[in-house]
Amino acid sequence: MSASFRLGADGIYRCDALQQFLWQEHGFGTRRGNPPADVTLHQVHSNRVVNANDLRSDRTDGQTDGDALISDRPRESIGIRTADCVPILLLDAKNRAVAAVHAGWRGAATEITKQTLLALREAFGTNPSAIYAAIGPCIRPCCYEVGEEVAARFSAQFPEWGREDKARRNLDLPEANRRQLLAGGVPEDRVFDCCLCTACQPEQFYSYRREPENPGRMISSIARLA
Ligand SMILES: [Zn+2]
Repeated sequence: MSASFRLGADGIYRCDALQQFLWQEHGFGTRRGNPPADVTLHQVHSNRVVNANDLRSDRTDGQTDGDALISDRPRESIGIRTADCVPILLLDAKNRAVAAVHAGWRGAATEITKQTLLALREAFGTNPSAIYAAIGPCIRPCCYEVGEEVAARFSAQFPEWGREDKARRNLDLPEANRRQLLAGGVPEDRVFDCCLCTACQPEQFYSYRREPENPGRMISSIARLA
């Protein structure tokens, strides 16, 4: 579902569907601005989910390996960095838990978003039916052709591709993550996609594929406020 995402004067996108919850604060950064992130990870393109509540205070700043964060601690934002990979922010409307996911192709292939749903359930008793999910700016199939080896890793997630047709593909990473959310029990009408492509819009976004030499990254973060 494509709900409205608004670009603030601070250069940060926010999803209306999440904004209705006054106990949270979230945002997807652009070249013009990034939201705060108190806790970040050393991102390693894995499917490892880290509970921010379990991190020691000296390990909250990019020290711990992983690619998704979960938390229910008030006033501590959790964030991930991307430049083409898919940023996904989740909230549990019932238990006030939040999650931030970094899903590149390796993370998507190993179902990091599905793993995040499982981690939320285990840590906070999150029922997927209470989740709202926002998918931020990332590289889209218009700009993301992958080789046969990468495509093969997604044959189970895109059964419509067919088996016999081994070929390069235009991979739809946000769709792979959306499917993981739905398969995990998140209602379809609570998954919101901004539909913005980082590679198509150089004035707004950093793109690793477009500018591999440019180390710019955007931050996406979410916090429970109360
Ligand atoms: Zn594009």
